Amino acid sequence: MLTLSHVTKQYTVGNSTVEAIRDIGFTVADGEFICIVGPSGAGKTTLLRCMCGLLRCTSGSIRLNGTEVCGPPRQLACVFQEYSRSLMPWLTVEHNVGLPLKNKVPSRAERGRRVRSALAQVGLDGFGKRYPWQLSGGMQQRVAIARALAYEPEILLLDEPFASVDAQTRADLEDLVLRVHVTSGITMVLVTHDIDEAVYLADRVVALSARPSTVLETIDVPLPRPRDQIATKADPRFAELRTQVLGLIRRPDTAPGADADLHPVGGAK
Ligand code: ADP
Repeated sequence: MLTLSHVTKQYTVGNSTVEAIRDIGFTVADGEFICIVGPSGAGKTTLLRCMCGLLRCTSGSIRLNGTEVCGPPRQLACVFQEYSRSLMPWLTVEHNVGLPLKNKVPSRAERGRRVRSALAQVGLDGFGKRYPWQLSGGMQQRVAIARALAYEPEILLLDEPFASVDAQTRADLEDLVLRVHVTSGITMVLVTHDIDEAVYLADRVVALSARPSTVLETIDVPLPRPRDQIATKADPRFAELRTQVLGLIRRPDTAPGADADLHPVGGAK
């Protein structure tokens, strides 16, 4: 469904360049749950923004169902970490969820049906008339997820979506996303720096090096589904997989180091 080949992104800052990601390649199959994991500052958000069509990669290509991604594709929705900045405080929950449908779904009745269904999927039945600031952080992130679901995307990209909530809420939201994945069949790509989260959620984990990020390895996660916070994490295979991913990311030659500095334009390292 989604194919990345030789994707590189360099930022220009003044007269220097920052190479965030280098020669990244992997595929995402229809219905798959992929987690991208790597150290902070590696280039995960950069990669996800390129996949969303919000950033142009410097070289390489990203194709969704065979078509080059040049801007945000209609089949794709995104959820970002900072729900407080992505929700409009002056709009009610139902208006926030319905906002992206304005240009996509002409029928008002159909928009209402989608909004109600999305809110029900994230457990926010009856909260449509509230404002975001009347809800807890976890509930606001549920609204952001509902907004993406109402859009009925084929693929959902999530950038560290649970990083700003407490541990218990985080576990609840992880299980919510797993349920939605099963019931909707939407392909999911989630970026996280949390290795346990990646292994718990994913069919495959793409492990990235420190910047400039490259794919160290793609690891299959053959843990049975449905997954459970206690039983899955107590499974000895879970511990083996997390150790495998941790070992990759913390290898001395791939961990953050001197290479994380700015490089002058012109290429000298
Ligand atoms: P991660 O999501 O893994 O923490 P990011 O993709 O946010 O990493 O950042 C990767 C690198 O690119 C960092 O060194 C960051 O400072 C740099 N970077 C990110 N966005 C920009 C930008 N707009 N301009 C310049 N440098 C940037």
